[in-house]
Amino acid sequence: MSDLQCAKCGETKHCSQFTVRKDCSRGYEYHCKECRRKAGQQQRKKSLGNVLAARKWKDANRDYTRIKAREWQKQNPAKASSARRAYEARKLMAIPAWADLQKISEMYEIMYAWNELWPDDLVHVDHIVPLKGKYVSGLHVENNLQILRATDNMRKHNRYE
Ligand SMILES: [Zn+2]
Repeated sequence: MSDLQCAKCGETKHCSQFTVRKDCSRGYEYHCKECRRKAGQQQRKKSLGNVLAARKWKDANRDYTRIKAREWQKQNPAKASSARRAYEARKLMAIPAWADLQKISEMYEIMYAWNELWPDDLVHVDHIVPLKGKYVSGLHVENNLQILRATDNMRKHNRYE
């Protein structure tokens, strides 16, 4: 073998610039080593960028909701602590051992990501069967959670109340 053309950059290079690959008809990779290296770097950069972006919106959103929640708590201290304790207690009682906590937190991550991207079209994580229902109470488990548009969620609550 002597010179080969790279299917990516189009340059003709010596075959030593291509990785040997038996299952390719010509016996070498179609993209030259240089192109493959660049593609690998770009791939890593992209996935790192995704991780960083994910962290960024998480932090930003956490701060924003914290500030908003604190403002409301300051104005409604009694309501806030009673609501919080009731909600946490209900949620704790409603998490069975078999709940998939990873999947549950993924739902909340999706919600935060969505709301960061489309603040005009907010979504909620909703309990399909409410934790405190009139006749039955739902569990805080992944298959009792759904992501709903905020507007649909309000419609649902109006229907049940
Ligand atoms: Zn190339």
